[in-house]
Amino acid sequence: MSSGAWRSLKAKVTRRDNGCCYRCGIDQAEIKRDDPDARDHVLDHITPRFEGGSATDMDNLGLLCEPCDTLKSKSEALRANQARKRAS
Ligand SMILES: [Zn+2]
Repeated sequence: MSSGAWRSLKAKVTRRDNGCCYRCGIDQAEIKRDDPDARDHVLDHITPRFEGGSATDMDNLGLLCEPCDTLKSKSEALRANQARKRAS
């Protein structure tokens, strides 16, 4: 997917979810009010691609704040590793 398409998907999801993280519910605008340099929420695949999640389905897309993204990425990396081990 092009980065432009990804950006426009993110804009759509941001509008749908009012800029809130789908795990903890924190509002992107609220973080920015406290810290203008804070990182934006990232657009995330709720079910990761390697577990069969759709890349572009709006139902599989949500926003994650930085701490939630870090946690989710870690646990996914672990699961991806285990899946690779089982496959070999
Ligand atoms: Zn969060």
